[in-house]
This record gives sequence, C-alpha cells and structure tokens, in this order.
Amino acid sequence: MTHKVTLIPGDGIGPEVTQAVVRVLEATGVKWEWERFAAGAEAFEIHGEYIPAELYASIERNKVALKGPVTTPIGGGFKSINVTLRKKFELYANFRPIKNLPGLESRYPGVDLIIVRENTEGEYVGLEHEVVPGVVESIKVITEKGSTRIAQFAFDYARKHGRKKIHSIHKANIMKLSDGLFLKCARKVSEGFPEIQYGEHIIDNTCMQLVMNPYQYDTLLLENLYGDIVSDLCAAFVGGLGLVPGANIGVDCAIFEAVHGSAPDIAGKDLANPTALLQSAILMLRYLDESDAADRVQKALETVYTEKKTLTRDVGGTAGTSQFADAVLAVMAH
Ligand code: NAD
Repeated sequence: MTHKVTLIPGDGIGPEVTQAVVRVLEATGVKWEWERFAAGAEAFEIHGEYIPAELYASIERNKVALKGPVTTPIGGGFKSINVTLRKKFELYANFRPIKNLPGLESRYPGVDLIIVRENTEGEYVGLEHEVVPGVVESIKVITEKGSTRIAQFAFDYARKHGRKKIHSIHKANIMKLSDGLFLKCARKVSEGFPEIQYGEHIIDNTCMQLVMNPYQYDTLLLENLYGDIVSDLCAAFVGGLGLVPGANIGVDCAIFEAVHGSAPDIAGKDLANPTALLQSAILMLRYLDESDAADRVQKALETVYTEKKTLTRDVGGTAGTSQFADAVLAVMAH
C-alpha cells in the first residue's frame, strides 16, 4: 500500500534535514505519496495564511505528517505554528525517547530515558493579556481531562514496553492548584499499574538530579513547559539536539518532528544533522506498522555512527547534511 503523508519541510534547517530524510525513506521500498506544504512566515508570503487551509485539510485526511521545524517570532508576531498544529489536532502526547546511538561517545553512556510531555495545555494555551500598562497576566491551564489522558499515555506506554518507573515532574509546592491537579490525576492513573514504580520530583531538583545521575530515571511525565525544557537538557546526554526524535500523538492522528528548532545559526550551510528527524521518521514507520523498514533504517543509522567516518559537525565529524544521508543510503543499499 501507499502511505499518504503530509510533509512540512519548515524553515531554517528544516528543508535540508527534511530532504535528507525523505531520500532515506524513499529508499526503504515503502511506497509514499507526499503532500508538501509550507507553514509559518513562508506560507504567509505565498498564501496570506500562516497555516494554509489546504495544510489543515491534508493532515485531516492523511492523519500522519512529517514535519521540519518552523521559526516562531520572539516577543510578538504570529503564534507558534508548532503549538497551533498540536492543539488543532489534539496531539496531546509529545513522546521523546532519549537514547545513545552506538559508537557515539558521550559523557553519559547508556542513557535510556522516555520523556512524555503534555502537549496541549499549561502555559502554551497562549492566554496572555495586559491588565494595565506595566502589568501582564499569562494564564496556565491544567485540566483533569488533559492531565489524566497524558498520565494514561505514559503508563500504557510503560506497560507495553516493559518500562519500570515513572516520575511525575512538577512544581506543586508553589503552583498548588494547577500542578497539584496534574499530580492528583497521575497518582490516580498509577493505581491501575501496580507493576510500575511511581514517584514525584520537583522540577528544579530534577534538573540537578538528571545532570548528577540520569540513570536513576526511566520515564518522565511532565506538563508542557517543563517537558519542553527538560527535553533539551536530556538531549545533551546523548550528543545534543541533532539527535533526539519526537512524535506528537493524538487519538487518531500524529505529527512526527525532531525536538530541535530551525537552528538559524547553521541554516542553509549544509551543517545540520538530519539524525533527529530521521529517528522521528523511524518512529513514524513504526506507527505505520512498517517495522521492517524501520529496523533497516535504524540499523543503517547505527552503522554510520559506529563506523564514525561520515558524521556531522555537531557530533565531531566534518560531513554535511546530504553527505550524511548518502552514507545512510550506501549502508542500506548493501
Ligand atoms: P534550536 O533547537 O533551533 O537550536 C539550538 C541549538 O542547537 C543551536 O545551536 C543549533 O545550531 C543546534 N541544533 C539544533 N538542531 C540541530 C541539528 N539538527 N543539527 C545540528 N545542530 C542543531 O533552538 P533555538 O535556536 O532556540 O530556536 C530557533 C527557532 O526554532 C525559534 O524560532 C524557535 O521558536 C523554533 N523552534 C521550533 C520548534 C519546532 O518547530 N517544533 C522547536 C523548537 C524551537
């Protein structure tokens, strides 16, 4: 069968890493039909809309998208395209596995963490207003429904994949009502999973604990903002943002994208590491029940890292984005 997938190359390094990943996916033998769309500032120039109506319709039809990063203006301008898409399609679970690649040396070898981040609520609801000049309010929304379903996702995943522990990460000592509700829901869900050890740590302590000893954790369950920050922190354990994949998952729809952003500092220079998006694409292959193809790409990726001959600059090599993709393709062709 042919998989119809909505493709959003994004901007910054997005088009470069997306092109590399599509080349690898095309070589798996799986049949693809890509529906390609611009989003963000680029889309506005072409269509007069930041998210064109056709893009919404395409995701609604296909239920699966592969997405590069999209730049969000800071301190003004249009709303984040990434957050808008996650909310629109109720992609409530942001799933981010943090694992070392074989052959890639790191100060923290053998890390194997799962980050489950709530993806639709918290500070990201975007409810901000000026009360009077010099005073603004930003509203954080935590609901029982949202907290329960993300906890359920984390525990279901842990049970299915034999994970041993889940820690809810919070600041309920200060945000007693909102983070308190998040914890209450997680505790309740945890009662249905007696085989999984459940713990709770305060976010600031967690950051210190992670850097001291990431091995004490297994699966981290976090609200939206904490999950965002802790994802980048944990990416550093395994070699940085060039490596860590992600999936935004809802009830019947998913968008696969790396943890990293549009990296304007290296955009257009053929320097970006496409591994993070390629590992996101592997998650997509598994989601689409194409596990043979997923295994093949994973194996080729691991071979390239083990051989250490064609690595990008962020992980100590000199290869460009396309050269790295060539190396993965060469292994797959053998
Ligand atoms: P970033 O993730 O783009 O970059 C942080 C650092 O990591 C930079 O030094 C960059 O060069 C490096 N890096 C990131 N990806 C890399 C890769 N694949 N290979 C090698 N190095 C890589 O974070 P930022 O600079 O804070 O954000 C830039 C823009 O991206 C902002 O507009 C932000 O809003 C947006 N953003 C988008 C998404 C998304 O589309 N889902 C996610 C995060 C940030």
